[in-house]
Amino acid sequence: MPKLKSSYRMIFALLAMLAASTVVLFAIGMNECDTGDAPEDGHVENGNGATLPGGFTTNVVAGASVTFKCVDASDKDRCCDNAGNESKPSDTMQYNWSSSPALTPGTSSSATYSFTATTNATVTLKIQDKGNNGAGTRDYAQPKTVWTAKVNLLGAKLTAVKSPLANVGDRVGLALIIGRSITDLRLETNPQTTGLPFTFRIASATPDTPDKGMLIVYRPQATMTQTQTGVDVDNNGTYFLRYKTKLETSNNKASSDPILQEQTVKIEALLNNIVMSNIDVSVLSHFHYLKLRSEFDDAIFYISFKYSLNISASYNGGLQDYGKTHNITGSTQIGVPGMGDENTLASTLLHEGIHQQQSIAFRIQITEGEKAFLNHLSGTPYTEYERFLISRYALGELDAYIAEENSFERTALSQVQRDYVENQISLFNNILNLVE
Ligand SMILES: [Zn+2]
Repeated sequence: MPKLKSSYRMIFALLAMLAASTVVLFAIGMNECDTGDAPEDGHVENGNGATLPGGFTTNVVAGASVTFKCVDASDKDRCCDNAGNESKPSDTMQYNWSSSPALTPGTSSSATYSFTATTNATVTLKIQDKGNNGAGTRDYAQPKTVWTAKVNLLGAKLTAVKSPLANVGDRVGLALIIGRSITDLRLETNPQTTGLPFTFRIASATPDTPDKGMLIVYRPQATMTQTQTGVDVDNNGTYFLRYKTKLETSNNKASSDPILQEQTVKIEALLNNIVMSNIDVSVLSHFHYLKLRSEFDDAIFYISFKYSLNISASYNGGLQDYGKTHNITGSTQIGVPGMGDENTLASTLLHEGIHQQQSIAFRIQITEGEKAFLNHLSGTPYTEYERFLISRYALGELDAYIAEENSFERTALSQVQRDYVENQISLFNNILNLVE
């Protein structure tokens, strides 16, 4: 039981401290237990008035049981009284423990004092001679403060090397689809304390998903099987762990899919089943992660890959259209609206991919037809050749929009975007009817 271990460690530390004080006292002389004052002067002190060493400080985990014990090295469970005698608690000494903030004491006449540490505390031991120490009655009003112990709760701070993370790995290519993104977690203890049995867990994920990612040990590699135990590998009071995100696959396309939602994963570090620290890690879909990092060309590559489109394009932040394919070079640029969400981007890439497949001559006719159509709108009369170009324009765009329409399932396009595509198909059919 780690809890017992913790309190034993406390006791041993305390024993060592008190033993050390006693050694000092004995080194000065055997009169340390002698009284320097007559009993009648009404107070208890340590021999010649010296104060026993204090300032003992310990750091414990919240919830640990801490026990103090008044001992000396020569005879356990005894402390010196003002008369210079070693006295048992039940005999002549009253052990008067106090603490701030108030803690539940043991028996005041006992040499031990235990409490459950739930906050920082200061514990003071006072010894009072109750009298009846051999001869006569002595009743001293002023107890002697022997020492003061400070109990500090151990501090721990959990940090993540990076957040947010993407659903999938950082590398471009196949690893984007099959990998998991990672962040390294560091738990620093204050004061730095080695050898503590910290454990870590994923406490919650919002929204919840069956795959919440996983915690793994990564240093040293040999302990990889200890899946949720941090390792103080450098033995300096800092514990390491790694978080791997949930996995996003090419099947996760619909915007309603929880895997694609922004997720908050709460990771907790525990010691003796007590949460010492926690951290929230944000996990984004890979597309939104790349957009957040302004890695637009990678986002385009990723969506082309994820949706098996095999269409290359680059981002143009100055383009206020979904996409544009150059009529001569056939190269495609994606504008700001085309990057709205991954489904819109997939559908836009599909559309521009149709234009890429059209011949240069056809694309030039489309461009010229669009110009002629816009001139027509402004009232300029158009020629028979312009009517031909406008029909080519309408046919060229219908090719692309109908391809989008036929791929609604594949691109998981939102209803709003589907309506937009349907409207465009109606528009270009109307234009076609107008000029034919
Ligand atoms: Zn088009």
